[in-house]
Amino acid sequence: MTNKEILSIVAHIHLEWLPAQFPVKVKRLLNMLIDLEPNFQAMTYQKYAEIEDWFPSPFQIKRHFHSLEGKIIYLPEENLYVLLYNQAQRIERKKWTLAHELGHYFCGHLNQLHSGQVMDEYTNQRIEAEANRFARYLLAPPWLLAGVTGAYGYTDAMTFYALCRFLFRLSQEASYYIAVSSHNTFYHYGIKNLASHWNPLQKKYQPIIDDIIFKQLPTQSDFNSFVDAYRYEYNLISWLCTSQQIGLIHGPVSAAQILAECNTSDVAQHKGI
Ligand SMILES: [Zn+2]
Repeated sequence: MTNKEILSIVAHIHLEWLPAQFPVKVKRLLNMLIDLEPNFQAMTYQKYAEIEDWFPSPFQIKRHFHSLEGKIIYLPEENLYVLLYNQAQRIERKKWTLAHELGHYFCGHLNQLHSGQVMDEYTNQRIEAEANRFARYLLAPPWLLAGVTGAYGYTDAMTFYALCRFLFRLSQEASYYIAVSSHNTFYHYGIKNLASHWNPLQKKYQPIIDDIIFKQLPTQSDFNSFVDAYRYEYNLISWLCTSQQIGLIHGPVSAAQILAECNTSDVAQHKGI
């Protein structure tokens, strides 16, 4: 799936499905999907364990699901998609997990795998990258990142980070991942092609952005002070990632993960889909 196709899907979800609110209500999107799609369900790991009568310790969760965070499966006999997720995650992390797993659903990855596509390492990396891309576009729409920071004359990763933390209320690790990835995307592709997605959404989101950002931070100097408040944590996570040569292709990495596994090269290898 191309970058443009993923952007279009996310723009459509923002236009038709989500309330005009920030931070983005992923749980509400999940509940709408459960209500509207008869072949889509979600269940927590904890509920699943209760039904199967085992205790959901991290060890047992890893043994049953191969991922501590979440996964999505397809049951062909019942034509049913089931999103499973760990209820015992920090709220920001749970938000990322749900967005990532919904990415697999909206990008049609399960259909691809069940239509006989071989799940080799290359395919696995491609679909994980697409689900991560979906998650970051959903949680921090790039047209908003570029539009808000651009209005003050900035397109650097530090500014994106501040906005991810403040406006989209994302975790430090998700914010850093999105900030760096978005900076690279904008650098390589330019930001002009985002305008076509922003135009239909402007009516819905502009008043909120005006209230939360532009009225509160009327000048560039106000905006600079706002960004500066996040500089310490940005520098810390940035230093950790660069000094330990942690790549971000597998999604957000937490500081704890980095410190625990700083001698391995493949820290955030995502298990399952
Ligand atoms: Zn995945």
